[in-house]
Amino acid sequence: MKKILIAGNWKMHKTPSESINFVRNLLERMGNYEDREVLVCPPYTSLYPVSDIVKNTPLLLGAQNVFYEEKGAFTGEISPLMLKDIGVEFVICGHSERRNIFGEIDELINKKIKKVVEHGMKPIFCLGEKLEEREKGETFEVIKRQLEKGLSEFKEIEKLTIAYEPVWAIGTGKNATPEQAEEVHIFIRKWIKENYGEDAANDIRILYGGSVKPENIDDLIKEENIDGVLVGGASLDVDKFLRIIEYTSMTRPGLDKREK
Ligand code: PEP
Repeated sequence: MKKILIAGNWKMHKTPSESINFVRNLLERMGNYEDREVLVCPPYTSLYPVSDIVKNTPLLLGAQNVFYEEKGAFTGEISPLMLKDIGVEFVICGHSERRNIFGEIDELINKKIKKVVEHGMKPIFCLGEKLEEREKGETFEVIKRQLEKGLSEFKEIEKLTIAYEPVWAIGTGKNATPEQAEEVHIFIRKWIKENYGEDAANDIRILYGGSVKPENIDDLIKEENIDGVLVGGASLDVDKFLRIIEYTSMTRPGLDKREK
């Protein structure tokens, strides 16, 4: 069965001690779910202490970024070796804030994705259009370019998770409607099918991200092609994140259809 992935991206929030408290609290209250996985992506300074707490628990650990070299004169960067060594399993690559604030281009993101897999971790490849691109009717063109360049010569598709995050929905409180998200997810799945085959298209998890909150999770997760969510703001609050984690399967009729 393909498990739903609920991932929290904390961005530049929470000190190490705040992170420790949050994760302890979350672990006390969350279950060990059969049909879904829960992931937190704290900032770098919190990864090590959090890794110790989540070991042997159902909570998975991810990083928000990585550099594509193992070591060297790259001041301020963090290597995949460092992440792997402390038990990081997932790494977000190409988040729109990395693209738009820090100038990350598709080619760089491609190198990061390959490096993450080379070191036995799983990339979460983020892509999505800006508001002006959507308004000009360029959404699918942008997504196609990001897929083609970001996954150029990338083979290990079974290790990859994709997160569709329309830039206009991130941190704005304005989520894509379930229909808008589903339409792009279908497009991405079709592209995966054309480039990696039917099994890969069926198996890959495509997450939606952009102002996911307790009020909209049930409607988003109902969509057949939404295999989970990447949550920013609402993942910083245990009550809200728990409510998102604990959407009910009743609200997701598509889940059973995809059991193998
Ligand atoms: C994100 O950080 O990837 C994100 C989607 O943020 P938010 O949920 O706050 O829009």
